[in-house]
Amino acid sequence: MKRTLAAGDVLFSEGDAAGSAYLVESGSLAVVADDEGSEVLLSELGAGAILGEMAVIDAAPRTATVRAITDAVLIEIDRGQLAERIERSDPVVRSLLEGLLKRYRGAMSAMRGQVAEAEDGFDHGGGMGKIRLESQLREALANNGLDLRLQPLLEIARDELGGYEALVRWNHPERGPVSPAEFIALAEETSLIVPVGEYVLDHACRALKALHAGGRSPFIAINVSARQLAEQGLIDRIVARTTESGLPHAALKVEITESLSLDYGMVAEVIAECHGHGIKVAMDDFGTGYSGMEHLHRLEFDTVKIDQAYARNMHASKRAMAILQHMVGMVHDLGADVVVEGIEEAAQLEVLQELGVRYAQGYLIGKPQPLSDWLV
Ligand code: C2E
Ligand code: CA
Ligand code: CA
Repeated sequence: MKRTLAAGDVLFSEGDAAGSAYLVESGSLAVVADDEGSEVLLSELGAGAILGEMAVIDAAPRTATVRAITDAVLIEIDRGQLAERIERSDPVVRSLLEGLLKRYRGAMSAMRGQVAEAEDGFDHGGGMGKIRLESQLREALANNGLDLRLQPLLEIARDELGGYEALVRWNHPERGPVSPAEFIALAEETSLIVPVGEYVLDHACRALKALHAGGRSPFIAINVSARQLAEQGLIDRIVARTTESGLPHAALKVEITESLSLDYGMVAEVIAECHGHGIKVAMDDFGTGYSGMEHLHRLEFDTVKIDQAYARNMHASKRAMAILQHMVGMVHDLGADVVVEGIEEAAQLEVLQELGVRYAQGYLIGKPQPLSDWLV
């Protein structure tokens, strides 16, 4: 919406409630503030300038008056247009913006001899909490504050542990163990996911060496997110690390956790690369979220891990049981192995046995435990 002002017109006054922001199309405007009865010119704005956006961002009253110096044409920017974008932006950026505004307003008050409001306690966007957590995670990485747990997979027909899934834990100094569901997502927002992945790979290889030295040859499956897949050279690093450790490449498996951003071409390439080195690839959490039929259809996974929701509900819901049976049949027809996650009861394991499922994973088989617990 266009607004036209004649020279001398006031657009808004100091103390007014926050309304719209404006883009200057033509003309010039003065931003002035009242200093004990006399007017101070803060700035002059011409075509292309934005004004009134501060009050829109933090919903505080206008801290200055804007008056047209010459005739001027403005485009009114609706509050919602900016608010929506700010709402959608990264919470860290939002908090930084909030902090900067607070400081700017403080400086303006100080200029007028008023005592500025204390600067702590902002951060409505929660971004600073996130930044703090991220710094602590960086520190944990440097100081061995992460921990790798191994959860066993039972090879049902042989009644033996076939391998383990590597599940990372963060022992937070104040909060105790933080779930990977929380900090992996945080690490993925920046390149921090790279050293986290390195940590997991490194410790998985060490664990494999120790387990293989005991005479057994189980596999370890590591979780790789879509963001990690996008990093160049991931598979090369897996191959290099297993070779260095004197392990067969097939001792490591890769579990791909889905996300909307999954790029088929890239995943197909990663799978082909893994297959070239004898590394098997599993699709994680099948039956929920983003892991759908389209992925099964287009990508050559060796293993499909059926989400724990099906094990949990198989006895309470005929529908869950029917879907589970058909998923297992379908995955077998594709020539892939099945893992059913979340097995907590013997009756659930019996069902898997009847269906010819290869692997069971869950608290009944074993919880995620440190390597030392699996070496005895
Ligand atoms: P996921 O890959 O689906 O891992 C299985 C999760 O189910 C684990 O949670 C495990 O502790 C839990 N679980 C296993 N058996 C049972 C059971 O019988 N009952 C119940 N109620 N839960 C069971 P966790 O360790 O909290 O991991 C959460 C998710 O974080 C994982 O889900 C995985 O997606 C992700 N994650 C874990 N480690 C890594 C990692 O090193 N890298 C990446 N990118 N993601 C990871
Ligand atoms: Ca997994
Ligand atoms: Ca899973």
